[in-house]
Amino acid sequence: MLKELVIASHNQGKIAEFKQMLAPFGVKVYAADELNLPDVEETGTTFAENAALKAETLAKISNKPCLADDSGLCVDALNGRPGVYSARYAPDRNFDKAMTMLINELRASENPDWSAHFSCVLALARPNTQTVFYEGRVNGKITAERRGSGGFGFDPIFMPDGFGHTFAEMTPSEKAKISHRGQAVSAFLQKEFHV
Ligand code: IMP
Repeated sequence: MLKELVIASHNQGKIAEFKQMLAPFGVKVYAADELNLPDVEETGTTFAENAALKAETLAKISNKPCLADDSGLCVDALNGRPGVYSARYAPDRNFDKAMTMLINELRASENPDWSAHFSCVLALARPNTQTVFYEGRVNGKITAERRGSGGFGFDPIFMPDGFGHTFAEMTPSEKAKISHRGQAVSAFLQKEFHV
């Protein structure tokens, strides 16, 4: 059973979600920043490659189990973009600008289908142990207007299928029940904590 875990991320929105989801399990959770661990460059071309790269690099440096998430928004009308490049789609990490750019790209495409999905791959790396992966995906649509103030990244313009609210209009626990990251974390908890 894991007693401590480093979250191999510097994204405060993601770290807050992980800490909330892991809180009931008595595992001591460190954000990479809290241990002064570096930001790892995402040079892979798939979510799994980037997640493994981040988790394995920080597990080696910290000598602790590390969990990394690589996730992104894949828009059908944009042939799956921004996908693995979602974080870098935002100029200066400004998601307000990124949302405007994405909506403008969709309008310019003249494709009326604004279907999209979020994907998440988690990699758990432990010193001297083979890395294991957990995945999650949530389908939905991009909305023409931003709605809500919760969450992070593209949450205000993503409405999951079967819901009348965007991720940014949901509470953290409502989002966690259905989100790509929530699903991947559930699979991780089942395997590692038998819940
Ligand atoms: P990375 O996994 O650190 O490369 O970054 C993932 C990027 O995907 C984030 O910066 C967001 O743009 C986007 N993203 C991933 N998960 C979410 C989410 O739950 N809500 C909103 N945006 C997300």
